[in-house]
Amino acid sequence: MNQWEAMDKEYVWHPFTQMQGWNENKQLVIDRGEGVMLYDTEGKAYYDGISSLWVNIHGHRRREIDEAVKKQLDKIAHSTLLGLINKPSAELAQKLIEVTPDGLNKVFYSDDGSTAVEAAVKIAFQYWQHKGRPEKQQFINLGDSYHGDTVGAVSVGNIDVFHKVYKPLLFNTKKMTCPSFYHSKIAGVDTEADFLDFLLSELEEYLKANSGKVAAMIIEPLVQAAAGMLMQPKGYIKGVRELTRKYDVLLIVDEVATGFGRTGKLFACENEGVCPDMMCLSKGITAGYMALGATMTTDEIYNAFLGEASDYKTFYHGHSYTGNPLACAAGVAGLEIFEKESVIENLPPKMAVIAEHMQTMNSMKYVGNARQCGMLAGIELMRDKELKIPFAPALLMAGGICQTARKYGLIVRNIGDVIIFMPPLASTAQQIETMLALLEQAMQEVFEKIDQHSDVKFSDPCAF
Ligand SMILES: *Cc1c(COP(=O)(O)O)cnc(C)c1O
Repeated sequence: MNQWEAMDKEYVWHPFTQMQGWNENKQLVIDRGEGVMLYDTEGKAYYDGISSLWVNIHGHRRREIDEAVKKQLDKIAHSTLLGLINKPSAELAQKLIEVTPDGLNKVFYSDDGSTAVEAAVKIAFQYWQHKGRPEKQQFINLGDSYHGDTVGAVSVGNIDVFHKVYKPLLFNTKKMTCPSFYHSKIAGVDTEADFLDFLLSELEEYLKANSGKVAAMIIEPLVQAAAGMLMQPKGYIKGVRELTRKYDVLLIVDEVATGFGRTGKLFACENEGVCPDMMCLSKGITAGYMALGATMTTDEIYNAFLGEASDYKTFYHGHSYTGNPLACAAGVAGLEIFEKESVIENLPPKMAVIAEHMQTMNSMKYVGNARQCGMLAGIELMRDKELKIPFAPALLMAGGICQTARKYGLIVRNIGDVIIFMPPLASTAQQIETMLALLEQAMQEVFEKIDQHSDVKFSDPCAF
């Protein structure tokens, strides 16, 4: 054990991690990165198959972004947005408004994805008070939704293993059926088209009777990533947009995971021509360099907060590091790379490699469903793929595969029975090919162990 591993185990409490298992097992210390590779303190190289938890876009140590941050560092690292302006946050706001769907015209900065959601929830709640409809207080969310880990974000979240324990702390929401066809268990709904009808009818029925008390609906568009890359039927977000507009309910779209190119378009909303009332951004917003969140809104919402100071219509919310100049400078540089290198236009051949491998994996014995949306993929394991009987929680199979993949030089991470694959957009088709071949090798090795009935035990502390 090197000195950093020892120090870590002595002093650090890791996120989403059972520390008992963590401390008992050997852990990697990442020392540096270059492009899509991470290097540990022993010099061993690993592909970054999850974009350093879904944040990295253009690779590590991108010269343009490094330089933009260094240049800003020579001016000032931080100055507040409370009462003062800084250049990078103004520039990034202008760029974000340029690239997000038409109609989103204002940017409220915060620190991360959770706070971008917190701000959206509070803005939606307060908006209706300013509009003279204070009874509109309820939020509609989706089954298996994930919007972050702060208490407000957990309130609009719906993942039992993460959220159940906090129930007494949370405000109530109206939960709609999780829009994942593969996981749907609705009698008589046998096709994806029927499932889409079911989802939209369920929503319309609820709105018809209750929209007078609903402030907003919040969704992750196209893909519910943290739930295990659950994919929505085509037409779903368009349908949700039409219904929320028809029944005068705000639509908050959480693009923290799907934004910045992950679905094959710059934003998932673009796939179905949707413009929400609010959009939450983080993760890829600084290309994975620094923490930053943004809540984008329409003029209609922004204008509802205007008035004299004595009207108390101010949005009383803000964080110390809001609009941090270093983070915003990284954000501007990241967006410039999208443009300069036609990053989105160059994705299709990379997505095709993922599609090919999903097909291969779907024919593997313990793969229930390998699915993809653009540059996002989830490989869901099943002990019995016909009967859809999972491995977890009895056997942390997916976690065991992720641990095994490290041996082959690939970092990936699972969520329950789902292996998440989310490479940086900068990965070449060849690099993606290599990463997925390594993953298949790890899957094969672990599947064979299971088949041989050897005494398999996975106690990966990173898995749950
Ligand atoms: C990661 C994520 C969040 C939370 O973002 P943090 O920066 O971790 O607070 C919120 N919503 C979605 C969809 C996410 O994937």
